Amino acid sequence: MNTICKNLEDIISRIRRAEQKYSHLSGSVKLLAVSKHHPIEALDTAYACGQIAFGENYVQEMQAKVDTSVKKALNWHFIGPIQSNKTKHIAAIADWVHSIDRLKVAQRLNNQKPVERAAISICLQVNISGETSKSGVNPNDLLPLAEEIRNLKGLKLRGLMAIPAPENNFDKQRATFAKVRCLYEDLNRQGFELDTLSMGMSNDMEAAIAEGANLVRIGTAIFGKRT
Ligand SMILES: *Cc1c(COP(=O)(O)O)cnc(C)c1O
Repeated sequence: MNTICKNLEDIISRIRRAEQKYSHLSGSVKLLAVSKHHPIEALDTAYACGQIAFGENYVQEMQAKVDTSVKKALNWHFIGPIQSNKTKHIAAIADWVHSIDRLKVAQRLNNQKPVERAAISICLQVNISGETSKSGVNPNDLLPLAEEIRNLKGLKLRGLMAIPAPENNFDKQRATFAKVRCLYEDLNRQGFELDTLSMGMSNDMEAAIAEGANLVRIGTAIFGKRT
């Protein structure tokens, strides 16, 4: 079996083990394969091994991959920082956008989405490690942003996304993810119907699942190091 398929199999069994360990339903945690900086051939291989959802960080790279891919069944998630002059391209191809952190970008996506396309699923990116990241909405500004976005009919608010500062200690990873989970639960208590907690990467996936992540974004552990 080729490396990418073997890696996918390993990741899926890691996910299943973590679901079991932390008492989540088997199959409840979804895998997003993050293919940024990897060639279309790598995506094709992963697709041939059953992977359908792919995450990309750069608009032009995602566009090029969408154009060359004959696999209409693929599911495209945009997960990178968004410049407002790029929203039109994202609105035309992305099924999901995980990196919404301001209203202006959400409004542009909403207005530019072609009418024939289904509502774009949205996660709000939360800046959970404070100073260390420039992307993401401050937790204090999350509720008002969510309330505005809820009214945009071209978008469907699905959940929260976070990229914590790099950390190797499991308990510390978990403590940060716990903060995101609390924000997610708070919003649902306020009447939102969020169903997606997008957190966990190659290096902190288990800690994220321990805190309720149900969509993990994995690049390196599937495709190898990025060049
Ligand atoms: C690159 C990236 C990932 C994947 O990270 P790995 O450590 O390679 O698994 C996940 N999420 C986002 C937002 C990324 O930019």
